[in-house]
Amino acid sequence: MGAYRDFHRRSIDERAAFWREQAQLIDWREPFAEVLDYSRPPFARWFNGGTTNLCHNAIDRHLATRAGQKALSFISTETGQNRTYTFRDLHAEVNRFAAALGEQGVARGDRVLIYMPMIPEAVFAMLACARIGAVHSVVFGGFASASLASRIDDAQPKVMVTADAGMRGGRAILYKALVDEALRLAQYPPATVVIVNRGIDKDLKTVASRDLDYDSLRDRHMEAKVPITWVESNEPSYILYTSGTTGRPKGVQRDTGGYAVALASSMKHIYCGVPGETMFTTSDIGWVVGHSYIVYGPLIHGMTSVMYEGLPVRPDAGIWWKIVEEHQVNVMFSSPTAARVLKKQDPSYLSKYDLSSLRHLFLAGEPLDEPTHRWMAEAIGKPVIDHYWQTESGWPILSAVHGIERTPIRYGSPSFPVYGYDLKLLRESDGAETAPNEKGVVAIVPPLPPGCMTTVWRDDERFVKTYFSSFRDKLVYSTFDWGIRDQDGYHYILGRTDDVINVAGHRLGTREIEEAVQAHANIAEVAVVGIAHAIKGQIPLAFAVVKDAEKIATSEARDRHELEIMETVDKQLGPIGRPARVHFVAMLPKTRSGKLLRRSIQALAEGRDPGDLTTIEDPGALEQIRLSLQQVRNDS
Ligand code: ATP
Ligand code: MG
Repeated sequence: MGAYRDFHRRSIDERAAFWREQAQLIDWREPFAEVLDYSRPPFARWFNGGTTNLCHNAIDRHLATRAGQKALSFISTETGQNRTYTFRDLHAEVNRFAAALGEQGVARGDRVLIYMPMIPEAVFAMLACARIGAVHSVVFGGFASASLASRIDDAQPKVMVTADAGMRGGRAILYKALVDEALRLAQYPPATVVIVNRGIDKDLKTVASRDLDYDSLRDRHMEAKVPITWVESNEPSYILYTSGTTGRPKGVQRDTGGYAVALASSMKHIYCGVPGETMFTTSDIGWVVGHSYIVYGPLIHGMTSVMYEGLPVRPDAGIWWKIVEEHQVNVMFSSPTAARVLKKQDPSYLSKYDLSSLRHLFLAGEPLDEPTHRWMAEAIGKPVIDHYWQTESGWPILSAVHGIERTPIRYGSPSFPVYGYDLKLLRESDGAETAPNEKGVVAIVPPLPPGCMTTVWRDDERFVKTYFSSFRDKLVYSTFDWGIRDQDGYHYILGRTDDVINVAGHRLGTREIEEAVQAHANIAEVAVVGIAHAIKGQIPLAFAVVKDAEKIATSEARDRHELEIMETVDKQLGPIGRPARVHFVAMLPKTRSGKLLRRSIQALAEGRDPGDLTTIEDPGALEQIRLSLQQVRNDS
């Protein structure tokens, strides 16, 4: 691992020289005076004094060489619409949007809240904000009015951009109606709402003094040329709220120059994309993955980005692979959940399409269990790269860096610390570094590299308190995830530090137990939660989805299966991790970004209220948990 090691070492030991080089990957209007100003730890100011612009780097700078190349390919299996924009088209659309926002008084530093389905206008709006130095805050379209209202009040946008509706699985979601409700709840509602009317909501209601139709605005600005607003590297480009899986969402603030450099560099070294090629990221623009690798990353790198509105299994489970074939996708980025969904489908969909253009599949967002990792890699016959990061980091923290060295992939592992990250695994009790194979908190010694969050929006104190106060006497960034490193330096994420079960004084990560359950051949997916127990403190309960439901058709078969699973855990992890019960369900409750709602499962199992469920994918899944718990209670 010489080349990777050297690259990583240089990024830490010769930080300034290393990042000065990476900074050449983007355009600067005025050069930076210093690579890093770290005079006020843990606040890092990257490329201090330099001026640049994200929109310029994503579009304008490519016009000389690739104006006619596709920049954005939009596919919707919900509406049947497909649209393609070259860099020249994208430039024109973004100028129109920027002019429309400017006309509404949006200026440098103003916030624009974008609450949109996966349509090209959402990308135009984001890039338009960047063009004029405004700060966008995209709120995922799955959030209900109350969650939206709290984000409105935190960001206090001047303008909101929305659509009449989105579509999901053939059903309309009325975005504008949700916005109206949120604006009633908000304390600081914006004066203007721009609506992209897709013609889905036939009863669209508008408020004359506030709501503007984007089509009419656009008509007035067809020939608009809006000059780039050059901003200082550390001016905020956007605010993005964390998913809120573990509590009150935090407004992650991102800078401009550092972010552009980190993305450009990751596109080259991690994703191994080549300008002119095509990237397909299956996430949503409402999440960080969408910001970084549907919008800014591929465009900054001169690649075509595929934007998909629809489900992975509609019209059938071959849809993504069909897109890969038709659009000659070279780099693909998806999530472990999606991989597990596909694993449950007919495997023939995977061989139906020509995937020869595809070089890599990247997965991130939650733990990728070893069997799914192996299955996915074998099914598509390509390297599947698990990589680990957070909304806060903006780009990968742990990953193979194949642009530097083709280190072998180990299933179940997101490989190594990415360059720029001085990553440590620390003992929770005293903050000392752990030995190989000893579990520790995944922590980063600051300064955080370029691209990472610079603070919590308008709350520096919360930034320091939340992220840098886990260890006494030590200023380190905590990811709040557990990890281990094996003797060869491969890392494994064991779950979140708050997903810990304390069984009779033994602290076990739910993820460790889940991995052990997964070792049983008939398990497709499993969630383990700890519930209160009078004697042991907590006991683990497992909720499992089986691959072959025939095998648990009778109650005897179920019991046998449950026992087998318990024995599997005994063998893999030891009897201490053995689930007290294994509940068989047809699906697990997840957020629409594919994250397991462990808190809600745990609450139900302890007879409490499941809490905020606005982002749940399918409420039926919680109902199943409820019924299964009921069943077991009745039986015993
Ligand atoms: P919140 O912070 O509001 O609770 P969240 O942590 O779910 O929300 P994200 O920033 O989208 O929101 O998710 C980052 C987290 O997802 C990581 O901290 C980690 O727990 C998990 N994660 C991401 N990628 C991986 C991966 N490859 N392997 C294991 N876990 C991962
Ligand atoms: Mg988090």
